[in-house]
Amino acid sequence: MKEPSNMPLDYDLLIIGGGINGTGIARDAAGRGARVLLVEKDDLAGHTSSASTKLIHGGLRYLEYYEFRLVREALMERENLLRIAPHIIWPMRFVLPHSDMLRPAWLLRAGLFIYDHLCMGMTLPKTRRIYFREDPTGGILQRQYVKGFEYSDGWVQDSRLVVLNAISAREHGATIRTRTRLLAAERFDDYWEARIEDNVTGAVTKVTTRAIVNAAGPWVTDLLHGELSVTSRNSTRLVKGSHIVVPKLFDTPQAYILQNPDKRIVFAVPYERDFTLIGTTDVNWDKSANHVEINDSEVTYLCESVNRYFNKTVSPKDVVWQYAGVRALFDDHAGNASAVTRDYKLDLDVAGAPVISIFGGKITTYRKLAEHVIEKLTPHMPVLGAESWTAHAVLPGGDFARAEFDRQVAALADKAPYLSRETAWRLVRNYGTRAGNFVTSRQEALGQHFGADLYQAEVDYLISEEWARSVEDIIWRRGKFGLRLSQSEVTQLAAYIDGKMAAHA
Ligand SMILES: Cc1cc2nc3c(=O)[nH]c(=O)nc-3n(C[C@H](O)[C@H](O)[C@H](O)COP(=O)(O)OP(=O)(O)OC[C@H]3O[C@@H](n4cnc5c(N)ncnc54)[C@H](O)[C@@H]3O)c2cc1C
Repeated sequence: MKEPSNMPLDYDLLIIGGGINGTGIARDAAGRGARVLLVEKDDLAGHTSSASTKLIHGGLRYLEYYEFRLVREALMERENLLRIAPHIIWPMRFVLPHSDMLRPAWLLRAGLFIYDHLCMGMTLPKTRRIYFREDPTGGILQRQYVKGFEYSDGWVQDSRLVVLNAISAREHGATIRTRTRLLAAERFDDYWEARIEDNVTGAVTKVTTRAIVNAAGPWVTDLLHGELSVTSRNSTRLVKGSHIVVPKLFDTPQAYILQNPDKRIVFAVPYERDFTLIGTTDVNWDKSANHVEINDSEVTYLCESVNRYFNKTVSPKDVVWQYAGVRALFDDHAGNASAVTRDYKLDLDVAGAPVISIFGGKITTYRKLAEHVIEKLTPHMPVLGAESWTAHAVLPGGDFARAEFDRQVAALADKAPYLSRETAWRLVRNYGTRAGNFVTSRQEALGQHFGADLYQAEVDYLISEEWARSVEDIIWRRGKFGLRLSQSEVTQLAAYIDGKMAAHA
């Protein structure tokens, strides 16, 4: 450790990691007046935060593991997030068929009763019992499934949640640098000196900061022991989860939660209007977090889960897209991967200038996690002492009530009558009121057409406002255009983006 210094510092907080936790903390801290730099080595949401099942949920399953604190916090957050992001987060009903071979009906009923009543002020409809022969939700189910339940949770466009937090952080003064890696950091008594590298140009810059937030997700332990040279007893356990996407299996708006004989559950969720998303698996992962891939046995497992319940069968050849990510779970030394706690742990080290590391977490609880991080840092950093503010401040584009969603779509369609109803709907789902920032009344202003309903105006907006730098950023994270564009359209879009990047270099 080196001598303290009174020199002016570049930043109050340096945040490593542009997933949901890093961007959520950046937004909160910047809004309280801190000078924030966030560095992300790849794209925003380039790893776990775009590979989730996309549920804003308390986690019904976690009740079996007595995770009441986590479930309660998550259910309260479900309400907050539905309010602050009514464009990218919406309520969804989940159908849970009962099977005599698996959990008894009384246990499901008791769990759902707790789920409905665990915290005050929940606005979503409560659980109902269903007899599938008399209910439209039973249409897709095999005849042996006679009864079940339907309950509420939420759905999120996960990678867009990350980007909206980053935009909000920037609007509160934070600097967000993607394709920028923390190389090393030297610790002094009251500040850090960090070296960060621009992955595109190779330029290395030195910055000074009062404290560091280690929000590196699957790399949290490597970063702590490596680049930051800090010891900690905490560690993570990497558990891979994979999903497949197939053409739409059912027309009802509900999702299905399917119990498997191994006690795991698999969701089948209506996805991007024409598809069904099926996931997830739970497999221990001891390889690099940089390249995580679904394997054949996971695809088979997911198909079999669905085929056990639905009267339409799915096979690996139906899969149009698949993705996998690793959960960096706080290692509580549980036996099997499904039993490892989904709760998070914050590790603050003040043996010199502060560093706080995040172990575990859920997308659903990111906002509350950010508040807890700030609370822990505040005694060491009075600059963070302002009131918490993010529970009521809407995310960019979310400045309308949930019930007014259709009115927003109609207003956009009035402004730009040439848009199809589906495109107006998609644009409000992705951008909320900010769709109007690049959609004008003049159809010609849309510019070059790249396939599906993607035009130059939107691509330019994603590059200039949302840090998109590559074709993957646009087709898999800012939107899901990859499900609809042909290979030649993707190539054309990539050439356009590369041209724009070269012009800006
Ligand atoms: C299969 C699966 C399903 C899930 N489903 C749900 C769900 O339905 N609902 C829910 O609430 N949660 C869900 N989760 C959990 C949720 O996705 C994660 O808790 C969350 O995304 C973790 O975010 P993060 O910011 O901690 O990590 P990440 O999103 O991984 O972000 C960490 C970032 O740090 C960057 N980084 C690392 N090292 C450096 C460095 N040296 N310099 C610069 N940057 C660096 C990485 O590139 C990475 O982008 C799921 C997770 C998985 C894997």
